[in-house]
Amino acid sequence: MTKSERTDNRKLDELRPVKMKVGVIKRADGSAEVEFGLTTAIAAVYGPRQIHPRHQEKSERGVLRCRYNMLPFSVSDRKRPGYDRRSTELAKVITDALEPALFLEEFPKTVIDIDMEIIQADAGTRAAAINAASLALADAGIPMRDLVCSVASGRANKKILLDMTKEEEDAPDAIDLPIAMMPRTRKITLLQMDGVASHKDIEDTIELAESGCDTLYKMQKKAILKKYGSK
Ligand code: ADP
Repeated sequence: MTKSERTDNRKLDELRPVKMKVGVIKRADGSAEVEFGLTTAIAAVYGPRQIHPRHQEKSERGVLRCRYNMLPFSVSDRKRPGYDRRSTELAKVITDALEPALFLEEFPKTVIDIDMEIIQADAGTRAAAINAASLALADAGIPMRDLVCSVASGRANKKILLDMTKEEEDAPDAIDLPIAMMPRTRKITLLQMDGVASHKDIEDTIELAESGCDTLYKMQKKAILKKYGSK
């Protein structure tokens, strides 16, 4: 794709600088940190373990319990501490994005807890959190059908863009379309969209996000190999 018309000089189809690190919370069974430019997410996994409160137990399968939270200093306006409606909704969509990758039927009566904290936020926090959670699950040694990769793409100022910043998302014609995908089977496990768009723009946006997921997949595998050694 073509020359940059973006405020940070990226190409239209270029991700922000991405950093991924596996094993950042030593106390956890698995953990990871993922940065997309000025967006940073940390995920910690505990389990499979006995579920509390016990009434949440499912006799036939395990439960995946996700929590998503933005820290007060993650944005310049200082966010009110704690969970709110947005974080509850994001925890739900992130759970649905990750669950298809897991074999929960193999872990009846247990819970896998994933806590995701957004350290700094400049759009794309759910995507960063999903990538971090997926790496943390792998780090915890939990069997998975595939890693789950996630990125948002969209439209701003009439251009279809990969991995938009908050400034780009605030454009008057913006659409914001986060997806999550299991690249091996190309199954999409999350697809959301804000804004008004033509069929063609939606198709182009999804295609661009899928190519972003392919790039992230390679980075995720590299981050795991970096911790576990084999080159
Ligand atoms: P995502 O972070 O997945 O793109 P949203 O579209 O809900 O999810 O949020 C876009 C961006 O808006 C966030 O990444 C963050 O930069 C900003 N934002 C969200 N909630 C708040 C808040 N309570 N205070 C300030 N900024 C926020």
